[in-house]
Parts: sequence; structure tokens; C-alpha cells
Amino acid sequence: MVRAIVGANWGDEGKGKITDMLAAESDIVVRFQGGANAGHTIINPYGKFALHLLPSGVFYEHVTSVIGNGVALNIPYLIEEIQSIVDKGVPRPHILVSDRAQILMPYHVDLDTYEEARLAGKSFGSTRSGIAPFYSDKYAKIGFQVSELFGDEADLREHVEKVCLLKNVLLEHLYHKPLLDPDEMMKLLASYREMIRPYVCDVSAYLHDALKEGQQVLLEGQLGSLKDPDHGIYPMVTSSHTLAGYGAIGAGVPPYEIKNVTVVVKAYSSAVGAGAFVSEIFGEEAQELRDRGGDGGEYGATTGRPRRMGWFDAVATRYGVRVQGGTEVALTVLDVLGYLDEIPMCVGYDIDGVITRDFPPTARLSHAKPVYKIMPGWKCDIRGIRTYEELPQACRAYIEAIEEEIGVPIRLVSNGPGRDDIIRRD
Ligand code: GDP
Repeated sequence: MVRAIVGANWGDEGKGKITDMLAAESDIVVRFQGGANAGHTIINPYGKFALHLLPSGVFYEHVTSVIGNGVALNIPYLIEEIQSIVDKGVPRPHILVSDRAQILMPYHVDLDTYEEARLAGKSFGSTRSGIAPFYSDKYAKIGFQVSELFGDEADLREHVEKVCLLKNVLLEHLYHKPLLDPDEMMKLLASYREMIRPYVCDVSAYLHDALKEGQQVLLEGQLGSLKDPDHGIYPMVTSSHTLAGYGAIGAGVPPYEIKNVTVVVKAYSSAVGAGAFVSEIFGEEAQELRDRGGDGGEYGATTGRPRRMGWFDAVATRYGVRVQGGTEVALTVLDVLGYLDEIPMCVGYDIDGVITRDFPPTARLSHAKPVYKIMPGWKCDIRGIRTYEELPQACRAYIEAIEEEIGVPIRLVSNGPGRDDIIRRD
């Protein structure tokens, strides 16, 4: 059975925590898209971790952690991340990397950085991890696949020269930066070959066999629905598909094997990067929610950037859950809202005087104004509560209002950052 754990919103919903928790009952956890550009914060008996590239199952000795072909593979970053968790006392994880994954190169990071600088005030708010140039190259068919490192040297050299020729035009004439040298790039790729050699595997075949044996596979998504390049707030999106459906492609499993789609929904909103954010709040109100949010404030796990904050947006979340094909919802960070007397919930968008509950494409989204319903707060700390019935009535009313808005059962309620801070609702 395959279960996907994906985000309904703009990312940072707490997927890492839910994956870390559900990995206990799984055999394999797969990252199927994205790269080291976003972080999953996990708090478990080993300590606090911000994982960027490793799947959130790496803390269990029985779990095999897989980097699927859909991931932007930054090889030195992966090796450092493995070492960093081992240095903190985690048993060395069992890791497999798809031979069809493509390699994120240093020039992708440079080009991302140069382009953000060139766009200045009109930038996308990229984390400058090279993600957009990486995926552009993948679809322009000039990316390096892991398998090439183990293929014919002359073919690799030819590929390297072609890439240098193309990139150097941009580097010289658009960005006025140092050029790429084919000899240096060959040396770099040779070093990558040795770093990645122990992990390389035909992941799709491995997963196929595992599923035949009845193993439990988790697909872990990065970011959320609204950052998907097709279904999100294009162009303020990421460059790989954040939807569970893409898990079939980015991991190499049959789509019909994905039986369960656990969509992680945040009890309030946060977003990084530019783009429309209808229920965004500002000033002191936003700062208070930011400082109280997550496990130590809503600041980027990769960049430390303050996240943009807002109230729960039922319009965006209903859409986000729908495009994921959610079969159940995990509602996270609910404990954070315990300080509020009243909790606004965005239940509609006013677009040029017309109220809608349907999430519009970007061109209309920029005109949307939030329509709020005000919910009573519960004014207490709900951390430590383990059963749904023990939650304050106003808190249950908030959960049930969200459930009614999104139309998919909320089966997990997360009321703290730790692995055990969870209420199951069957
Ligand atoms: P991901 O990218 O979706 O894995 O999300 P993040 O790593 O950005 O997680 C969001 C933050 O919320 C992290 O700091 C988590 O430790 C924290 N977190 C997750 N679930 C909860 C929760 O239920 N309550 C609180 N207070 N923090 C949580």
C-alpha cells in the first residue's frame, strides 16, 4: 500500500512531523519532488532536526529512506545531511537514491542567485537553492542523470561541453559572471560519482518488488498544493509538482497504488515567497502569530526568513485538499491558536463585489478580498491532550467548522511539535 503525505497550503504545514510519526508503521519513505529548498522540522527523541533533502523516515532503523527520480539531487548536500544526523546520534540510515534522479549542479545555485539579483524587487522570493534552473534544465533535456555518472566517459564529456557552451552565453552576456570550465565540471562529476555510489539503485524496480511483498510505502511531499506549478499560484510557485499524483511519477510507482492521501492542513496560514495570500495579516497581529507559531516561531527552516502570516483560508484549503485528492486530513499547529479571544476564518473571497467559495486562477486571485467568519477562541493550552473529547468545546467547534468547509474527514489533530502530540479521530 502507498500512502502520500502532502501539504494543502503554501508549505510548512508540518508534513515532516506527520511523516516522522507515520513512518513508525511504514517500511519505506520516499521523497518524490523538490530539493533542499524547503525544510521539514522534526522533533523526536533524538532531538530537533531541520531536514531538507532526506525523507522524514530516517530516524527509524526499520525504514528505508528513498530519494526518488523526481527530486533535485544536491549530492554534497545529501552526504552532509546524512552525516549531520549521524553526528547527533541517529543510527546511520538505510538510504537509496534513484539512478534516474537528476543532479543539482553548483551552476544551478549560481544562476538562481544571479537571476534573483537581476530581478531585484520583482523577484520570485526564491531560496536560491537552484531549483528553478535545475527543473528548467531537466525539461530542456540538458540535466545530468545519476546513471550518466556510471556510463560512458566520452558521452559524459560531450554532455558537459554542451552544457558549458549554453550556460556560458548567459554567464558572460546576461550576468557578467565567471564562466564554466568543462575540465573542472568533469572533475566535479567524478567526485559526485564516488559520493553517491553507495546509494544508487533502480528505485522504481525496488518499490515495485516491495509493493508486491506487501510493504508499506510513504510518499513525502514538499511544499503544498498552492506551490504546484500547474494548480498553484503560478508563477509564484515552485518548479516541481507538489501533488500526490506526481508521487507516482517522481517515485516510479503505479498511480493506482496510492490508496491513501493524507493532506496536511495548517490551523492558520503561513507562506514564504511572493504571491497572492488573501487572508494575510500584518503588523503586530501577524508578529504575535509568527512568534507563537510552529515550535519556535514561523521562520524559514532553510533561510531563517520570517514567514508571511494569515488566518485559516477555507477557500484555498478546500481547493488545496481537492487537487491533492485528499482521503483524510491531518490538522496541525492547532495549539498555537490558544491565545486568541476570537479566531477569524476566511470562508469566501470577494472578487470585484462577487463572493465566491471557489479558488480562482492567479489573474483573478490578485483582486480577491477575504470574507471572514469569526469563531470563538478557547483561551487555553491544549498541548498534552490525547483524546478528542477532552478538547475544549470551542476548539472542537473550530476543527469541525474546518472539516465542514473542506469536506474531507480530519483524522489527525496535531497539538504540539513532538511525535506524540497527536489526537487520532477515527
Ligand atoms: P513541513 O515543511 O510541512 O514539514 O513543515 P515545517 O517543518 O515547516 O513544520 C512547521 C513547524 O511546525 C515546525 O517548526 C514543526 O516543528 C512545527 N509543528 C508541527 N506540528 C505542530 C503542532 O501541532 N504544534 C506546534 N506548536 N508546532 C508544530
